Amino acid sequence: MAKPQIGIVGFTGCAGCQLSILDLEDELLDLLNLVDIIDFRMAMTGNKEGPYDILFVEGSIVNDKQEEELKELRKKAAVLVAIGSCACFGGVQAMRNYRDDKKIREAAYGEEGAKNFPVFQVKPINKVVDVDHYILECPVNKYEFLDFVKYVLIGGKPKLPNLPVCHQCKALENRCIFLENNIICMGPVIQAGCGALCPSYGLPCDGCRGSTLEAAYQQQVDLMIKKGASVQDVSRFLLKYNGEDPQVKDFLLKAWHEQDKNLKYEEEEEK
Ligand code: SF4
Ligand code: SF4
Repeated sequence: MAKPQIGIVGFTGCAGCQLSILDLEDELLDLLNLVDIIDFRMAMTGNKEGPYDILFVEGSIVNDKQEEELKELRKKAAVLVAIGSCACFGGVQAMRNYRDDKKIREAAYGEEGAKNFPVFQVKPINKVVDVDHYILECPVNKYEFLDFVKYVLIGGKPKLPNLPVCHQCKALENRCIFLENNIICMGPVIQAGCGALCPSYGLPCDGCRGSTLEAAYQQQVDLMIKKGASVQDVSRFLLKYNGEDPQVKDFLLKAWHEQDKNLKYEEEEEK
């Protein structure tokens, strides 16, 4: 029986997710007994553009050319999987969607150069094509990637748990750095699956796995402010990875519409 044909491609991001997959090393050799990797430009030559049984896509879409390329790839992929926060929610670069275009262009190219360079809105890949599955995190966890491939190979339908990072943090019996140490942490509203990695080392969850379903952003922001977070802290935590996460976007647009000055961070930052 022919082995399933796999592709791993990258658009705009830091390529860290592809590196994580390469970091599988020994497991990758075992994986090659089960699948044919036909397209992995970061790792090999002689790549073939489909057809793919599974195509993994890293990075967000930042211009029209990428949009067309992604649409063409989708036509050649039976199953398309977004990997990492850039592909899933826009990633760090989606912060620019909340800024003034002209200011961004001038910061990058100077006043004169800015006239010649457009700034595009950053899009997670599901704003351009249908996405069948998501593998979260920044970068993706190499074992989660491997489990996903194994699961699909045996005919399973991978499903994300709808639990917050706090759930895993509690299961590990970590002390809560948010409530006990006033370290602002996004654990209550962020999708679990990383094993509460950051809080387990005493660091706050920055939100790299995206929101849980029906995340309570208003309560989270109220608590952050109560715990002494500044406006900049709040906006940084909300937007760092998830600028194009629909729940974050809806929440922010509503807050701005209602003139919630706690979230009018841009003016504050520029004082
Ligand atoms: S999700 Fe993170 S690691 Fe992956 S490409 Fe984007 S910035 Fe890099
Ligand atoms: S704790 Fe939060 S920021 Fe850290 S890996 Fe998990 S989801 Fe990402």
